[in-house]
Amino acid sequence: MISANLQALQARIEQACDRADRPKGSVQLLAVSKTFDADAVRQAWSAGQRAFGENYVQEGVEKVQQLRAAGLTDIEWHCIGPLQSNKTRPVAEYFDWVHTVDRLKVAQRLSEQRPPELPPLQVCVQVNVDGGPNKSGVLPEQALGLAQAVAALPRLRLRGLMCIPEPAPDFASACAVFGRARALFEALNAQGLALDTLSMGMSDDLEAAIASGSTLVRVGSAIFGARHYPAQG
Ligand SMILES: *Cc1c(COP(=O)(O)O)cnc(C)c1O
Repeated sequence: MISANLQALQARIEQACDRADRPKGSVQLLAVSKTFDADAVRQAWSAGQRAFGENYVQEGVEKVQQLRAAGLTDIEWHCIGPLQSNKTRPVAEYFDWVHTVDRLKVAQRLSEQRPPELPPLQVCVQVNVDGGPNKSGVLPEQALGLAQAVAALPRLRLRGLMCIPEPAPDFASACAVFGRARALFEALNAQGLALDTLSMGMSDDLEAAIASGSTLVRVGSAIFGARHYPAQG
C-alpha cells in the first residue's frame, strides 16, 4: 500500500509540475512519517523513498536509531516540528535538516551543538505567511534579518524558507498565500542569500504549492494513511 501510494503521489507531483510548466524532478518529496513506526519507513525506503520528516524529536531519534541499526544508513532525516531551545541537542546530533528555525537562539544552539564530524545542518527559516497570531514562524518582515544571522552561523547551512499556512478554501486562495512565501524567497535571494529550497505543500494542498514555486512538499497521510495517535510534545 505504501509503495502504491508513493507511486500515485509521484504521479500527482509530476502532473502538478506539468501544469505549472516546471520540469519534472524540480520538486522533492519529503515523506512525513510522524506517528508511523520504523517498519512503515522501511517499506517506503524499499520503494525508493530516501527523505523522511519527523515532528517529535524523541520519536524521530528512536526511529533514526532503529533504522540505522537495521542497516538503513542512506536516509536523510528532516525535523519539521516546532523546536524548543532546550531540545535542540538531539536534533543537531541526529537530523540532517531542520525546517522550523524561527528564532536566532534556536539556530545558535543548533550550530553550537552540531557535532564537528557531521556536515553542517541544513536549515530552513519558518515563516508565518498567513499571520495567524499563535503560529510558529517569523513574520515576513523579520525573515531577512533572521536569515542573514542564520547564514552566518558556522555549523548551519541556510537552504531556504518553510511555511505551513492554514488550509485555504480553494486553489486560488491557497496560491495567494503560497505566493507570499515565494515572493519572500525571491526577495531574500535578491539580497544575496543563495536559497534553493522552498518547503511548502502537504497532502491536501501540494498542487497549489507546486503552482506557486514549492521545491519540496512534505506529505504524510497520502503516503502512510490517516494518523491515529495524537501529537506528543
Ligand atoms: C504532519 C505534517 C505534514 C504532513 O501532513 P499531511 O497532511 O499528512 O500530508 C507536513 N508538514 C508538517 C510541518 C507537518 O507537521
